[in-house]
Amino acid sequence: MPIDATAPYDDENIFAKILRGEIHCDKVYEDEHALAFRDIAPQADTHVLVIPKGRYVSWDDFSLNAEDAEIAAFVRAVGNVARQLGLVEPGYRLLANIGQHGGQEVPHLHVHLFGGEPLGPMIA
Ligand code: 5GP
Repeated sequence: MPIDATAPYDDENIFAKILRGEIHCDKVYEDEHALAFRDIAPQADTHVLVIPKGRYVSWDDFSLNAEDAEIAAFVRAVGNVARQLGLVEPGYRLLANIGQHGGQEVPHLHVHLFGGEPLGPMIA
């Protein structure tokens, strides 16, 4: 069931539990501001989720309420993950689902990173 991108942050969401170490994840990257781990139901050869460590429901929440430095750090972290995984050449895809029409299921901002194979015109 897609979530409301403007809802208050729910500390019991699955990615909050992953951040607190209460649920295991297959971690591929971590820094002060971000964590990246493999998606439990991969839709491409490489399918990683990159999340900020701050409590942001959605891209809307993040872009509205995060400090500029935090936004910059998250953007850099996404790039770091792609480079660390060796995806820059031949390329990869980023996707963020936002709210109901975007089909966002988990109410903690995440960017999907797909790669490792030629991707079709669209992966949702
Ligand atoms: P959304 O539709 O919210 O953009 O995507 C949520 C993603 O989180 C889905 O691709 C789903 O497979 C992934 N996911 C849901 N629960 C878990 C979990 O417990 N662990 C991991 N690693 N991924 C999860």
